[in-house]
Amino acid sequence: MIDVQDLVVSYGTATALDHVTLTVAEGEMVALLGPNGAGKSTLANTLAGLLKPASGTVRVGGRLALIPEGRQLFPDLSVADNLALGGWRSGQRDPSPVYELLPRLAELSSRRAAVLSGGEQQMVAFGRAMMSRPDALVVDELSLGLAPNVTADLAGHLAELNRTRGLTVLLIEQNARLAFELCRRAYVLESGRVVTEGESAELAGDPRVASAYLGGA
Ligand code: ATP
Repeated sequence: MIDVQDLVVSYGTATALDHVTLTVAEGEMVALLGPNGAGKSTLANTLAGLLKPASGTVRVGGRLALIPEGRQLFPDLSVADNLALGGWRSGQRDPSPVYELLPRLAELSSRRAAVLSGGEQQMVAFGRAMMSRPDALVVDELSLGLAPNVTADLAGHLAELNRTRGLTVLLIEQNARLAFELCRRAYVLESGRVVTEGESAELAGDPRVASAYLGGA
């Protein structure tokens, strides 16, 4: 569903992604870990078509939606209007399937995005992405700035969509514990390169990964 081969992306003369190869099969949920500045958002934005590769290929076999880092909502628009913007390309006007999925959004529908909590805003970003009726979802830092219980709630929704609708997910996370819990497979990106990849269970047991991403646990 998502097929990235030998991808190079640069900002001017600075190389942000250096020959990255990564795949996510249809219906799979895969994690991408890495420290700040590793190139994770660059990959997300390239998958979403916002950045152009210098070389290599990016193929997405279906409709892809991005939950961008920092949510990027329109703060002065209502929740309903933010959702409507998500349906612009797919032509989906009716938010009720998203309200069914995330009932809290129905309660918040007339509120301005700016007054919502971080978790509520992330839920709007999630709902907005689902308005485009995606086959695949790229989530850039689901847990960033959110309380653990709020993150767990959103992660639960994501896992359910994956399980019940076969939604393909690339989960970009700094929280390795969460990523390993949700995803059977993971990639580790450092300085623009994939340095490790494999089954989450294996990676969690790798001392280098554990000390860098699981606080030495
Ligand atoms: P973070 O978690 O901090 O967002 P990241 O893994 O998502 O980090 P990127 O944001 O993709 O990393 O950044 C990768 C590299 O590219 C970094 O060195 C960053 O400074 C650089 N970079 C990102 N955006 C730009 C830009 N618009 N112009 C120039 N350099 C950039």
